[in-house]
Amino acid sequence: MKIVKVEAFALRVPPEDGNIEVEWGMDCSLVKITTDNGIIGWGETDSNPAIIKTLFDMPTSHYLSYSIKDLLLGENPLDIERLWNKMYLKTLHYGRSGVGIHAISAVDIALWDIAGQYYNVPVYQLLGGKYRDKIKTYGTFIPYEDLDQTVETAKRSLADGGFDTLKFGGTPYGLEEKYDIECVRKLREALGDDIGLAVDVSKLWPDFGSALSRMKKLEEYNLEWVEEPCLATDYDSYRKLASMVTTKISGGEALTTVREFSDFMQQASPAIVQPDVTNCGGITEIKRINMLAELNSCRLIPHNYGSGILLAATIHSLASFQHGNLMEYSNSLSPFFRDLDRNLIRSVDGYVAVPDRPGLGVDINEDVIKEYSYTW
Ligand code: MG
Repeated sequence: MKIVKVEAFALRVPPEDGNIEVEWGMDCSLVKITTDNGIIGWGETDSNPAIIKTLFDMPTSHYLSYSIKDLLLGENPLDIERLWNKMYLKTLHYGRSGVGIHAISAVDIALWDIAGQYYNVPVYQLLGGKYRDKIKTYGTFIPYEDLDQTVETAKRSLADGGFDTLKFGGTPYGLEEKYDIECVRKLREALGDDIGLAVDVSKLWPDFGSALSRMKKLEEYNLEWVEEPCLATDYDSYRKLASMVTTKISGGEALTTVREFSDFMQQASPAIVQPDVTNCGGITEIKRINMLAELNSCRLIPHNYGSGILLAATIHSLASFQHGNLMEYSNSLSPFFRDLDRNLIRSVDGYVAVPDRPGLGVDINEDVIKEYSYTW
């Protein structure tokens, strides 16, 4: 089997208010790989879609600065790890982390999708088999200035997904200490002690002192975790915080490759790491990161807020991990989440079922791609 076509698509829903920034989930970067026997694999990355498309379509330059497409055409798509390392080496001058790894992640996911279809088994089977038939999900929402409205939104999120755990974050959360504490107090009071609550600070707390003060005051509310209380790369502050509070600290959604996660786990002492399979290096790399997490007694709860491709890749990966029993479930209204994959896996009563279709099991509606492709 040979790769005969490699296509990258840059998609976005233009903001109605003319804003230059799209809401999270309203852009999408896809990769489609076609083989000579007609098997098609799909991959995704959460990055800037225009840059990613460029990395595929640009001409190759010197030998450490290749076009991703040129590295794949004519290759056997089943040689997944060899191709991962070939892409890593041949993009070394512009890659290594960030967009180079984002592009590799999308290709890697598409190659696993092809391999599953070729061997006629779901991807999790190729990863060593599954530990479970369904995976628990938690819901996510953005709080409001008005705390009664925030409580109503939380209750609606719980009912919509049948969740028993919720995470919330995004401004106004993170801007003022008084609000940050009061918001958690009010939610805990309204939802009771049996609902799991986690907070995503998204790096908005301004400094270590503010982070420590707020985390100390939040301890009594029994949060599941506090996510990104410091800048993603400020490992010293992470480590100091972790040693001074009892609440678990999580992070890592912006990190790439097992190299960065190794540094993060060794130097920052997070209780939970949150790689995004479409960013961190794909299924090949999240499997390595998971192994490292197990060795370091870290929990892995992946970031998941994209299309049905990210969702399926996350579920197949987690199903094959010993402790992969909790994941984020997107509540996005984006067409890339709702409409792109005709087989979109739903969260029912707080769980997603692990699909048994060959490959990732996605069925991509290319009309969505035609409708939202953009140029620049
Ligand atoms: Mg986050």
